[in-house]
Amino acid sequence: GELGVTDPLRRALEAVAETLISARDELTDLDREVGDGDLGISLARGAAAILAECPGYPGADGPGAVLRAASATVRRSVGGTSGPLYAVLLLRAASALPGSPTPADWALAFRAGVSGVREVGDAAMGDRTMVDALQPAADAFAGSLEAGNDWPAALESAVEAAKVGATATAAVPARLGRSSYLGDRVLGHPDPGAIAVWTWLATLATTLRP
Ligand code: ADP
Ligand code: MG
Ligand code: MG
Repeated sequence: GELGVTDPLRRALEAVAETLISARDELTDLDREVGDGDLGISLARGAAAILAECPGYPGADGPGAVLRAASATVRRSVGGTSGPLYAVLLLRAASALPGSPTPADWALAFRAGVSGVREVGDAAMGDRTMVDALQPAADAFAGSLEAGNDWPAALESAVEAAKVGATATAAVPARLGRSSYLGDRVLGHPDPGAIAVWTWLATLATTLRP
């Protein structure tokens, strides 16, 4: 049909949006422990906007155009720290994608998106942010492909790496964001942004799996 190769990506985006809407209260509770309690609300608002606008995203121009449109939706609809960071994640990934990407192209795009988040947020691994889930996930995806695995296996590795990275944030104080004001009081609670990454990545993997 006219939607062509972008159909699976749209379905995955919509599934991710549904998951973030379902996770709203859980993410908000996590952010209430270590931040200002708006993360679940912010991401659910963005997710609702994606669901509303996704059917109108350009279908014929490849997955990069879909991700670029999604970035614009997020930029308009998501506030807080997450809004600009997710917008840049999607935009940088979009810009790195050729018209008909191979798994290796997706790996490069994922890494480009994460680099954008790191630049804009000035975040490194271990700062207790979403980067602690994103970076290992992008590295695991690329590494698994380079080791000769197929993309569904690589995506599973990425989910596992995001889970490990997100869980590990509970053991470190924050260097960035609102949590950094709380010092050691965040210990024992995972970073909500990192948990959110693990959450949507797991849905992405399940939805795209052949
Ligand atoms: P806010 O504190 O503005 O309400 P959100 O609730 O939207 O922000 O997002 C909080 C999440 O953003 C944190 O859990 C963390 O993962 C992430 N974060 C905060 N600061 C940064 C940063 N400088 N770089 C990358 N990620 C960050
Ligand atoms: Mg917040
Ligand atoms: Mg806020």
